[in-house]
Amino acid sequence: MNTQGLQELVELSREYGKGRDWVIGGGGNTSFKDDRFMWIKASGTTLGEITAEQFVRMDLSRLEAIWEKRYPREADERERQALEDLMAARAPGEEGKRPSVETLMHALFPHRFVFHTHPTVLNGLTCSRDADGAVSRLLGERALWIPTVNPGYILARTIYDLVQQWRTSHGGEYPPILVMQNHGLVVAGDSVEEIRSLNGEVMEAIERSITVRPEIDPVAAEPAHLEDVRDAVTRAVADYRAAHGDALNPPVTTTFTSPELARRAGNREAFAPLEGALTPDHIVYSGHKPCYVPEAPAMALKAEILAEIMEYCRREQTCPKLVVVGGLGAVAVGATEKKAELAKQLFLDALKVARYTENFGGLQAMPEDQVAFIRGWEVEKFREAVSTE
Ligand SMILES: [Zn+2]
Repeated sequence: MNTQGLQELVELSREYGKGRDWVIGGGGNTSFKDDRFMWIKASGTTLGEITAEQFVRMDLSRLEAIWEKRYPREADERERQALEDLMAARAPGEEGKRPSVETLMHALFPHRFVFHTHPTVLNGLTCSRDADGAVSRLLGERALWIPTVNPGYILARTIYDLVQQWRTSHGGEYPPILVMQNHGLVVAGDSVEEIRSLNGEVMEAIERSITVRPEIDPVAAEPAHLEDVRDAVTRAVADYRAAHGDALNPPVTTTFTSPELARRAGNREAFAPLEGALTPDHIVYSGHKPCYVPEAPAMALKAEILAEIMEYCRREQTCPKLVVVGGLGAVAVGATEKKAELAKQLFLDALKVARYTENFGGLQAMPEDQVAFIRGWEVEKFREAVSTE
């Protein structure tokens, strides 16, 4: 067992997992490999607090064999088989763990370390209309652009094929940087220093071209009506759940506001860009779309909120994880305190990402069919369940 490499992996993972600049919740994943094995973050674990035991040891030759195999075209069956092969690639003794859904993406690099993160600033670029052009302008030949596709096997396969193409025009080398549309960043290197320097290179290049930034000055105080909003949201969601056979678990709610939220929530038009999903993490933790309630006079507010939430639940076939009320603020909803908190964190992140996209031509949300795929995907339900326990 390569204890030194694994220890370096744990330390660097924690370093990037701390704070909220690189990943939030269970987002991102990291790996280390020697000649025979790869240690990859287990699904749903948190980088900031990760331990050596939370990495899954995988047999590299079995992962390699997955590239040679042909999978069915039909999405559910293809993903089922690919997941089965991924599980079968776990080294003996690792059967109790579940490797990250992005394991294959790590395995295609020969480098000892692969770090995949979802930085807020970088996603301001990846979720923008000019993303592709900006990546080549800012990072040149160093970075390979990965257009958004369904996650899982298809994403890994798309990256594999694009990397092989890149290699034929670069003397067999590997791209050290991948920038993934509506998703995040991957860097690959043979040492901890290389990972740090690649991450630094990407962030400096992006920072240099940013002139529009999110407002960070705190909002003076939460508006008084926000507590009424919270009551109305709690009641509406509890009613909807009770009507669908789940009366036992009342929702946990938390209220918040931010300067960016205040800017966006004022009217439906300003809020519209945020009704699309930005990245898989945003969908998993704060829902595929917030419920927006235009500002209403105090007297009519509760009735307005109840009506909007009921309408949302009927239309989307699910309860909102976020309710935004024009001019007032937002309420995050979850089955537990941790779920509500993560819904809030990811939404605050989405607000910042949306602002950063203004440096690169404005926001471009994920395609609807990919949003639907992620919402129905068992793998992401597992990830959410584990990381919000
Ligand atoms: Zn990711």
